[in-house]
Amino acid sequence: MAAGIEQALRARSGDACELCGAADDLDVYAVAPSDGGADRSILACATCRGQIEHPETMDPNHWRCLNDSMWSEVPAVKVMAWRLLNRLRGEGWPQDLLDMFYLDDDTRAWAEAGEAAEPAVKHTDCHGTELAAGDTVTLIKDLDVKGSSLTAKRGTAVRNIRLVADNPEQIEGRVDGQQIVILTKFVKKSG
Ligand SMILES: [Zn+2]
Repeated sequence: MAAGIEQALRARSGDACELCGAADDLDVYAVAPSDGGADRSILACATCRGQIEHPETMDPNHWRCLNDSMWSEVPAVKVMAWRLLNRLRGEGWPQDLLDMFYLDDDTRAWAEAGEAAEPAVKHTDCHGTELAAGDTVTLIKDLDVKGSSLTAKRGTAVRNIRLVADNPEQIEGRVDGQQIVILTKFVKKSG
């Protein structure tokens, strides 16, 4: 990352995370779709960056900070705040903030465009190997299937899995003729 941008962002933010105000572990975060310039980047702390990049680790309470940062004068900060509030809207309070949130047309278009460009949730097996739809996996322990007397035995191969779109911890597959949801931490990719 170009040092010039980081300097510009440190000056703009007063050496603080532009989302939560933390002063530690600051780095440049490019707000997609980005041209790499300071106007399309924010300065963010490791906690914010980590949770943005790994939505499954998001701690809603951390993002109470958006209550303040959504009023930033910086479009890139507003865009991130808007996207994060949208991700969290199921919590209730983010919806209240979104209802108050004003974005001009250009900024709103940017905020919405970036959502599509965000990386999709990634499904990985017990070893961290990425899983894809259609893969075959092996169960690494006996699993009781919810709502049935079926136990899916350790070592069972499950072919042609499906990824649960909004939950990186779940896949679906057929065991003994029954379509079941399986936690990714209990499977190993075969082959
Ligand atoms: Zn932060």
